[in-house]
Amino acid sequence: MCGIVGYIGPREAYPIVVKGLERLEYRGYDSAGIVLYDGKNAQLCKTKGKVADLKAKAENENITKGNIGLGHTRWATHGVPNDVNAHPHYSNSGDLVIIHNGIIENYGSIKTALEKRGYTFQSDTDTEVLVNLIEYIKNKEEVKLGKAVQIALNQVIGAYAIAVFDRTKPDEIVAAKLGSPLAIGIGEDEFFIASDASPFIEFTNNAIYLEDEQMAIIKLGRDVKIREIKNDKPVAPFVHELQLNLEQIEKNGYDHFMLKEIHEQPEAIKDTYRGRLRINEGIIKMAGIEDNLEKILKAKRIIIVACGTSWHAGLVAEYIFEDLVRIPVEVEYASEFRYRNPVITSEDVVIAISQSGETADTLAAIKLAKQHGAFVFGVCNVVGSSIARESHAGAYTHAGPEIGVASTKAFTTQITVLTLIALKLAQSKGMISKTDFHKYLAEMEAIPAKVEESLKVDDHIKYISSVYKDSPNFLYLGRGYNFPVALEGALKLKEISYIHAEGYPAAEMKHGPIALIDEQMPVVVIATKKGHYEKVVSNIQEIKSRKGKIIGIVTKGDTEVKSMADYVIEVPETIEGLTPLLTTIPLQLLSYHIAVMRGCNVDQPRNLAKSVTVE
Ligand code: GLU
Repeated sequence: MCGIVGYIGPREAYPIVVKGLERLEYRGYDSAGIVLYDGKNAQLCKTKGKVADLKAKAENENITKGNIGLGHTRWATHGVPNDVNAHPHYSNSGDLVIIHNGIIENYGSIKTALEKRGYTFQSDTDTEVLVNLIEYIKNKEEVKLGKAVQIALNQVIGAYAIAVFDRTKPDEIVAAKLGSPLAIGIGEDEFFIASDASPFIEFTNNAIYLEDEQMAIIKLGRDVKIREIKNDKPVAPFVHELQLNLEQIEKNGYDHFMLKEIHEQPEAIKDTYRGRLRINEGIIKMAGIEDNLEKILKAKRIIIVACGTSWHAGLVAEYIFEDLVRIPVEVEYASEFRYRNPVITSEDVVIAISQSGETADTLAAIKLAKQHGAFVFGVCNVVGSSIARESHAGAYTHAGPEIGVASTKAFTTQITVLTLIALKLAQSKGMISKTDFHKYLAEMEAIPAKVEESLKVDDHIKYISSVYKDSPNFLYLGRGYNFPVALEGALKLKEISYIHAEGYPAAEMKHGPIALIDEQMPVVVIATKKGHYEKVVSNIQEIKSRKGKIIGIVTKGDTEVKSMADYVIEVPETIEGLTPLLTTIPLQLLSYHIAVMRGCNVDQPRNLAKSVTVE
């Protein structure tokens, strides 16, 4: 979710680290920082904003000298993006300094324990807790930095790629990884550390990719020693020869950010429920809901305000909330809501959904809702964004930076968060049996693997795309939970391929759109086993009778729709409420491949912007 860079060797570290950060900026872009050691002093510079802001500040303050350097471009998870929360972070003594990509989930309990021992904290980050834990262990156990890092990491739960440096022993950098990526570039008498190989590609083609639960002790002018964090076993380093160009690396080998983000969904969904979904305890942990439980459960009505893809996530949430929590839900386009003189009371709860958290209409809608006394809950991806700040409470999606303009992982992670909220409320209100609740939790935990499986049929989807890529129109149909998915599928195709597409509730077809059906019209029908299957099958018959072309999104093993459709794309089975998380995947891939085949600029479609900050 963020970018880290480090250098130790004979050259000036500053230009290497700063350039590296620029290349990694796609990974995170809310703040940045650097620390340099010149043989005598360590100097730190950090700032909210882009790497360009950091560069200006560092050069202005003359912080450019040193042959050991660590740099970070942050994508905040704990604490708003500001100068103080930006990395690197010092330990209390000022001796240790760290950069970190990831989340330390149990940072709260560690922080409390350290505070009892007199430690104080400048920032709100989980990272500052980790560096102080390392320092505490180093002093208490009287061990070297590497050992202290190892002991500390055995105590933390979460994900990390870290690099730590001790200015009292400035000939080594200790790095470690679990969950987040970390590459070590091996030069002649010099070493590089980075989230991917792009920061050092022009200096060396040799790189070690740390595996999960491995740490590296990188000695100035000497070597890199790798050990397993858990059992302390030494590992023989495997040096890869890099054969990549810069652009490929930044997109992790994917042709487009959109495709990369589609493939990131299994991890992104995990990041969304990490620490919240607690199967063993039989609970969902969400502070924003817990702290306001009474208020939310007493709501007469939930109003969801959003735009675009987030509005579709809101529609899915309407089904889940009404189904599980039995509170009436209205889903509103923020732009209509704010100008409609809507009836809002203090008994309403307004949920605002926005990936960027900066969507102008949604922001204005929640300001209006607040003026009328409603309680506002924000669901955003970007930490510290305007909507996050303006809301009374909220939950982040933790999907990581989404760069492709057409939203993909933001959508599925929004649905994930909204489902967790609905389940939490249903449990608190006693509306769901223990068995059903547990079934939901277990199934939610199984979703990332099922998304992974849905991504595997990519070649088949590519083939279907080649058949229909020149169609001027598409229809998308779905019922129940999958009606919003049909809308989202149509929107994706419009956005990036410029083909006209409409999404409809399948049963509405008879009331108009059926007139459009002829042998030229591809109709994508979501017909999963759970959720009005027979009714959708009848709708497919109706299309078939009028010679329409059917692309069915079906449950694995389905034979009935397969016998009628021109093509089917299978997704694994899951409970009805979670099917949108799976049926969305093939629709994203279908629109992606069609757009690529039509020569469209997938990541930056014409006329669109990633975050719509104007109304
Ligand atoms: N959890 C850390 C923070 O919020 C690191 C986030 C990142 O990966 O950028 O500062």
